[in-house]
Amino acid sequence: MNNCNHEYTKMELLPPNQEHCAGVVCTNPDCGKTLCYQAHPHILAKRQQNAADIQKLLADSQLTAFERGFLTGVRNHKPTPAQRQILDALVSKYILKRSDSNEQGREAAPVTAG
Ligand SMILES: [Zn+2]
Repeated sequence: MNNCNHEYTKMELLPPNQEHCAGVVCTNPDCGKTLCYQAHPHILAKRQQNAADIQKLLADSQLTAFERGFLTGVRNHKPTPAQRQILDALVSKYILKRSDSNEQGREAAPVTAG
């Protein structure tokens, strides 16, 4: 009965210390094999969001030379936690502020990612 072709698979989240990954697991109880590991969907979504934010920011003519250089630098690779902070700051400075102008007085709650 080893002839499972893994027709049905599910994403199985890994323990918290590896939560950036998800295992693709066969749902056949006789098999249950972990087929491969993928980036966690949540991480992929975050990455896409980052890319979109960077794209938006780069289109902003108010950027300083430093900011533009920084964004160009992080565009093609995964930002470090420190770079992520700068990126978040730029997003709230240039993107959130603008679309939030009719909600004065309400501070945008910073998302503290684990
Ligand atoms: Zn299987």
